[in-house]
Amino acid sequence: MLIVMHRHATQEQVDQVMAAVEAMGLTAEPIPGSLRTAIGVLGNQGYVDDSTIRTLPGVRETIHVSKPYKMASRDFHPDASVIDVAGVQFGDGLKPVIIAGPCSIETEKQMMDAAEQVKNGGGQMLRGGAFKPRTGPHSFQGLGIEGLKYLQQAGQAFNLPVVTEVMRIEQLDKVCQYADMLQIGARNMQNFDLLKEVGKTNHPVLLKRGMSATIEEFLAAAEYILAEGNSRVVLCERGIRTFEKATRNTLDLSVVPLVRDLSHLPIIVDPSHATGKRMLVPVMTKAALVAGAHGVMMEVHPDPASALCDGAQSLSGDQFAGLMQDVNHLLGFLGYGT
Ligand code: PEP
Ligand code: MN
Repeated sequence: MLIVMHRHATQEQVDQVMAAVEAMGLTAEPIPGSLRTAIGVLGNQGYVDDSTIRTLPGVRETIHVSKPYKMASRDFHPDASVIDVAGVQFGDGLKPVIIAGPCSIETEKQMMDAAEQVKNGGGQMLRGGAFKPRTGPHSFQGLGIEGLKYLQQAGQAFNLPVVTEVMRIEQLDKVCQYADMLQIGARNMQNFDLLKEVGKTNHPVLLKRGMSATIEEFLAAAEYILAEGNSRVVLCERGIRTFEKATRNTLDLSVVPLVRDLSHLPIIVDPSHATGKRMLVPVMTKAALVAGAHGVMMEVHPDPASALCDGAQSLSGDQFAGLMQDVNHLLGFLGYGT
């Protein structure tokens, strides 16, 4: 970190800042300039908490040189990571993984039908929510543990690893019992206690970007999981909140190449929640793959018109099958083979 002093900062103020840095167990190196003095902070292992320093008299600004994420960064881990979820692999140069399934698990039959459609279309993983983070308390909240059982059965019947959201620490044991991959939803991206607990499991994690999270915050959230010893994290861009109301969220596709550059973790895209519109899902799926996404997760429902959650952004089985034909052509073109 670099501490930049005001032009008129006194020597006494510089000394006070240096003493504060040293009190944190770090080394302060003054860098006198023609207009102002800067102080280099050395010896830190990771991100320096500058909350005290910033408020000291004479301090103009602090500039972080190291990022708030280290284990998630390419500096720490130059080679791209390959994340294995029950035999399905996410990573550089590997065929992108298509995850599909309904927003919510509704019935045993709905889940079986959805799984059949996902399998027949060529999807590699099955999704479905049993614990749903709904915006309002009167909306369907999910089937809970009963739903987890239906998801697991459907996944096993069609040989598709399953991913589902865990909303609270108390649900973690059960979700680990039934799911191959734990999803942390956008609303929980900064639930640091949950991230830490998920980091203590051996389950791969699908971490969705918070709706107002910067890329730095997104990677810092992944860092919480990695720091607890679980390095199997796949990131997921699912749209961010902007002024635009024509779509549910704004799909930030630039995050894909940016994250690929900054981090070794794979990143996938969820065009369903990013757009909220079925009509936009196929084209944004293809755009995500062209942008370099390591996979796509989309909502597919046997009967979207009757879906208890997110029907407007869900593809029918036929629509999914049609899209997957296009995806396979595109992947061939992109050099992945079919
Ligand atoms: C979901 O994938 O089911 C979901 C609720 O998504 P998000 O957390 O991105 O809103
Ligand atoms: Mn949904």
